[in-house]
Amino acid sequence: MSSTRVVVVGAGIGGLSAALSLAAAGCEVTVVERAATPGGKARHVHVGGRAVDGGPTVFTMRWVFEELLGGAGFDLQAELPLTELGLLARHAWDEGGRLDLFTDTERSAEAITDLSGAAEADRFRAFCRRSARVYESLERRFMAAPRPSLPGLIWRSGVSGLPGLLATSPFVNLWKALGEHFHDHRLQQLFGRYATYCGSSPWLSPSTLMLIAHAEKLGVWSVAGGMHGLAQVLERCATARGARVIYGHAVERIEKRNGRASAVALDDGRVIEADAIIWNGDTQPLADGRLGDAVRGAVPARARTQRSLSALTWCMAARAEGFPLTRHTVFFSRDYAAEFEDILVHRRLPRGPTVYVCAQDRGDDGSAPAGEEGLLVLVNAPADGDVGPPDAASLEACTEATFGMLARCGLRLSSDPAATVLTTPAGFEALFPGSGGGLYGSASHGWQSSFTRPGSRSRVPGLYLAGGGVHPGAGVPMVSLSGQLAAQALLQDRAARRI
Ligand SMILES: Cc1cc2nc3c(=O)[nH]c(=O)nc-3n(C[C@H](O)[C@H](O)[C@H](O)COP(=O)(O)OP(=O)(O)OC[C@H]3O[C@@H](n4cnc5c(N)ncnc54)[C@H](O)[C@@H]3O)c2cc1C
Repeated sequence: MSSTRVVVVGAGIGGLSAALSLAAAGCEVTVVERAATPGGKARHVHVGGRAVDGGPTVFTMRWVFEELLGGAGFDLQAELPLTELGLLARHAWDEGGRLDLFTDTERSAEAITDLSGAAEADRFRAFCRRSARVYESLERRFMAAPRPSLPGLIWRSGVSGLPGLLATSPFVNLWKALGEHFHDHRLQQLFGRYATYCGSSPWLSPSTLMLIAHAEKLGVWSVAGGMHGLAQVLERCATARGARVIYGHAVERIEKRNGRASAVALDDGRVIEADAIIWNGDTQPLADGRLGDAVRGAVPARARTQRSLSALTWCMAARAEGFPLTRHTVFFSRDYAAEFEDILVHRRLPRGPTVYVCAQDRGDDGSAPAGEEGLLVLVNAPADGDVGPPDAASLEACTEATFGMLARCGLRLSSDPAATVLTTPAGFEALFPGSGGGLYGSASHGWQSSFTRPGSRSRVPGLYLAGGGVHPGAGVPMVSLSGQLAAQALLQDRAARRI
């Protein structure tokens, strides 16, 4: 039997995961990527003579990549040296207070005792038990499984699993659920921020997102060469299994023959025939016909209000003084509700942003490199990048609020302006067309959001989907799972002679 020809459009983590799985399964895989390098959002930004991660920085759920690489005959640790971080993140509040969170529950509980008292530490322990139950109820049944319907999920849980599923309180929003645990609003804010890991608001997300807190407690690693290094490894392993990657060319059209996706047309006029195509870009251009009428409507359209959060990011080479940064540090605004209201209701840059700083040359002991270091500074923003760049006055106000807050918390950053690269929602839209600048596909707003994301199979036979906008959702491990699920669906269809 001749091998199956697959074109993967996009070398993001989802596309590369699909490419690796399929190349290892013997398919003839061609990846087409419009950028010059792999990784998509897991990109490197070059500032002041160094490469800084300008996208994801937190690496969790390592098993996802162990299984992917293991299935293709590689060993994750040998390909990509990972260092476990005992200290998950340092948190500081503009209004006062600091808290370190660790993978070790008791170390975190001690720190919480110091910040908010022993009773709050007990409530934290109860929260850890609850978030662990949510994670365990959903890990394999939902995340690593093809997109379930709600009845399908209940069926898969079985009668014995049903109480566990209902105990995940999917109908309560995360903010409210956290209020049942924490009396200190700073802790409610800290754990509510986990909703932003998939670009969502804690007031609109289901409480099940507390599973992210547990996923972090299971381990966070720093990656040699940064998160972009993960993309390079996936690309290297995929090409070692025979995949071919074409960089610097966009797919402009997807063609159909006999009702099935059959070829892609590149921006230089080349046409590549395929038995199956995996789309790893944002799903919106497929929905609105930007990839041609043949595949218009291959996925449901997404409204602007369903987009995940965007961000303003500053990638910088800077000297950091006055505050003991660790690898991951979060500086919280005084009024978290106002921040989300600015972004999601008024659709403007936040006037009082919460600021995440990734000090990429530091481990969890916080030891600082001499001189300048690589930093990513990030604040949430509305995903309206397709409307245009933010106006100069609001951009300046948000920039002042961001760095002013860091300064009030004691952090002084000095850098050459030439060694700073700012990316706005419009910049993210230009890099990832159709996203509006949203970093994570669709927001996880409402308990039904998980069941409305497209699954691996689009409405067009032979056209499959992988990426943050499809099941099981955004974030590096999840998009890798989506790529692996797309590969599985394609191989099943091949076995059933549907392709
Ligand atoms: C600033 C930032 C911080 C983040 N922080 C974290 C974090 O700490 N932890 C975490 O887990 N996640 C984080 N994320 C989210 C995570 O990066 C994404 O969910 C994930 O990387 C998306 O992968 P993807 O497979 O959906 O593809 P993408 O990264 O979206 O890549 C899609 C690729 O398709 C290409 N493409 C699109 N259209 C075409 C076309 N027509 N022809 C050819 N190529 C095309 C694009 O160029 C791109 O390379 C962050 C994201 C950003 C931007």
